[in-house]
Amino acid sequence: MTITTPNSTTLKTELFIDGEWVPSSSGARFPVENPATNQVLTQVADGTAADARRAIEVAGSAQVEWRRTSPRDRADILRAAYELILSNTDELAALMTAEMGKPLNEARGEVAYAAEFFRWFSEEAARIDGDSTVTVDGVHRILVTKEPVGPCVLVTPWNFPLAMGTRKIGTAIAAGCTMVFKPAELTPLTSLALAAILQEAGLPDGVLNVVTTSRPAEVVGPWMASGIARKVSFTGSTEVGKILLRQAADNVMRCSLELGGNAPFIVLPDADLDRAVEGAMAAKMRNMGEACTAANRLFVHRDIAGEFSRRLAERMAALRVGDGAVDGTDVGPLIDQAGLDKVEHLVNDAVARGAKVLTGGDRLQRAGYFYAPTVLLDVPADAELNSAEIFGPVAPVLVFDTEDEVVQRANDTEWGLAGYVFTQDVDRAARFSAALEVGMVGVNTGVVSSPAAPFGGIKQSGLGREGGRVGIEEFLEYKYTAIPVIPASR
Ligand code: NAP
Repeated sequence: MTITTPNSTTLKTELFIDGEWVPSSSGARFPVENPATNQVLTQVADGTAADARRAIEVAGSAQVEWRRTSPRDRADILRAAYELILSNTDELAALMTAEMGKPLNEARGEVAYAAEFFRWFSEEAARIDGDSTVTVDGVHRILVTKEPVGPCVLVTPWNFPLAMGTRKIGTAIAAGCTMVFKPAELTPLTSLALAAILQEAGLPDGVLNVVTTSRPAEVVGPWMASGIARKVSFTGSTEVGKILLRQAADNVMRCSLELGGNAPFIVLPDADLDRAVEGAMAAKMRNMGEACTAANRLFVHRDIAGEFSRRLAERMAALRVGDGAVDGTDVGPLIDQAGLDKVEHLVNDAVARGAKVLTGGDRLQRAGYFYAPTVLLDVPADAELNSAEIFGPVAPVLVFDTEDEVVQRANDTEWGLAGYVFTQDVDRAARFSAALEVGMVGVNTGVVSSPAAPFGGIKQSGLGREGGRVGIEEFLEYKYTAIPVIPASR
């Protein structure tokens, strides 16, 4: 398979530091696999601690000039990159499908979604405002301005290889911050292609530095300890997020953490069942269920649980599972052996405790990491999947009787990212929206992410928000200057 980067040169597989494509200082490389075929696509530079130190020093030096650029110049770079991403949709989608597994149509959807962050933040760059007021005693005028926070450490997961990058990089560019960026080991190619696009769009050397590696702590650790980086923006598991939060404490760095989820998907007895099933398909099956916002526990009222589950199982059984690169595929493979083993374990555990399998319930006997779309009914409260991120195409249906009961069960988790509620009663919708301990609620919809929305969670799902009006604030510091209202007479 020949993969080309968007600027039509060969595939980028080196580190990107100070505007140059360079090998790892050790010369080592690591393989990138196609999860649908288990074949190695290519080898990528395996960055070291020495590479990491060089990258953060470059980002620190570049910050001096970069913070002085005009908002319009930064906006123009983002806008040019937005156009470049869109005009290379097919190449980027194919690359993403090859290294991550999602079906091509979903990969194209991610390209559009990811590009939109650059367009959104190209508009936000020009809207960084300030404030002016007067002290209560009338003596001083207060001038509030905003400044870039400084060099940022960006770390992303494998499940949305392009969008997780643009969501962070777009904000940092708009705010005037330089960056060191470590993409996931399993999906580095899309991120390297993104760096090539930004270079082509005119991003000055040293503003974005990308270090791929198979030893994440060896690269990210020196960045966190450097004293040069002023902020970390991380998307990934709660476990790793906590490690970075602890490391950030040593240099009192700003933190944005987008972590794991355990989304409740609640279907009330008055719900429009067609919409609820459609919503469940979107909330559960987008990205093969490998999404932090994925419906993890489907709470369905006892009166409709049988009918809802039957319809959902029918839809799930009709999905075509296979290589995402093949036209007509609805569901691709899971990311790796560990992901597949985890899903298998969680389903087996639920079944051993009494859950009924309505469809699926097994891995596929073929190359790649495939698991059949699965619906489980009557999942008992003690099943492990109630308290674990499934990250796979498995929809566990849990039956409830009362509103109070389902709210209590939905909130009985340390996570608080997304939640969904299906009802035709507007008062009920408002009641559930208020009661759910999450950062994002979908009412009669299974999709909650948009560049215009402040994406993020509460509890152990993270700190801060990405996107929306508040996204850029995460990369800005406030400064206030006091100026005498009436200067002292000379
Ligand atoms: P992960 O294991 O936490 O990895 C995320 C990133 O952190 C990867 O780049 C990883 O590198 C790196 N990393 C791992 N250990 C590290 C360490 N000790 N120090 C510094 N960096 C380290 O998560 P994942 O499995 O890739 O992604 C799935 C998780 O991401 C799920 O929990 C999901 O809910 C969450 N997620 C959250 C959001 C959100 O917006 N809230 C969005 C998408 C995903 P390697 O690739 O080399 O391991």
